[in-house]
Amino acid sequence: MLCRRQVFAALCILILLLNLSLGCTANDKNKPVSGPSVKEELPDKQPDMNLPAEVGANEAGQVMILMYHVIGGEKEQEWAQTGENFRRDLQNLYERGYVLISLKDFVDNNIDIPAGKAPVVLTFDDGTAGHFRYIEGEQGEKTIDPECAVGILLDFAGEHPGFGHTATFYINDRPFGQGKYWEEKLNRLVELGFDIGNHTLTHPRLNRISDLQVEEEIARLAQVVEETVPGYQVVSLALPFGIFPAERELLGKGEFAGYSYENRAALNVGANPAKSPVAVGFDRYRLPRVRGSTSELEKWFKYFEENPKEKYISDGNLETVAIPAEKEELVNKEALSGKELILWTKQ
Ligand SMILES: [Zn+2]
Repeated sequence: MLCRRQVFAALCILILLLNLSLGCTANDKNKPVSGPSVKEELPDKQPDMNLPAEVGANEAGQVMILMYHVIGGEKEQEWAQTGENFRRDLQNLYERGYVLISLKDFVDNNIDIPAGKAPVVLTFDDGTAGHFRYIEGEQGEKTIDPECAVGILLDFAGEHPGFGHTATFYINDRPFGQGKYWEEKLNRLVELGFDIGNHTLTHPRLNRISDLQVEEEIARLAQVVEETVPGYQVVSLALPFGIFPAERELLGKGEFAGYSYENRAALNVGANPAKSPVAVGFDRYRLPRVRGSTSELEKWFKYFEENPKEKYISDGNLETVAIPAEKEELVNKEALSGKELILWTKQ
């Protein structure tokens, strides 16, 4: 026990020194800009060895990847969430200490959020009109509809600093209705900080087509996006209908007619939170999602309230992976990629 404490203290000092030498890191972005400088703090500032325990950091815990389809309409249905209820979902997440992260940051274990916060990932499938709609003015000017998903997210993020607005839109060919704007919308999405994901060109059942057709479906959609948004790379795929192709390796890599693609993740339809990227059993090509609906969200909020140790809680430090010592066997040490593992116990 004594030995573990000594190791922990040494680690914390090392981490503090590293942070000081780097100056203002990305983790500082949510902290107030005023106050004493790092130099002034040096003489009496002690490393906060208890922070992981204080916030209950558990970076081997589960993360919700929320899956939305239609946004809009008068009434919530299985595959449709009203704009009003979507906004309430965001409010419920915010009030429970969640912060939005992108799908690619999740699978790359680049979860850069404050200590004590929980990450959540937003995904939208099918590129329907309610995801991104313009309102056209009489002079031909266009503004983002405040009732579409993009409009609601931007508005909510503006009113709730620190929550973020990142999300991935999984599209098929020519998304978001309003035909003439689709290319401009893809560029605008990326400019606004959203991601575009691959949902195949025509949304087929991937188990009913040949390997070559699977590659064609994935490669051609990636090509459409990458040629429309110069310099942008599509790096993840949401399976149409949640159906896997016979040859699963094609989800990660393939090529068609000289155009190759590479996905770092594939999303299932699923119905439960995903394992942490450092947890044993994490499978980046079979990521489950939670359906974005009032009842499903309530169900999982309740689950995490009753089982708080199952939830991913950040230690606020991108260079370390902090987990309760009793959860050590849940960590896949090969997935740490050079990050320091901190096993904490309550003092
Ligand atoms: Zn779909």
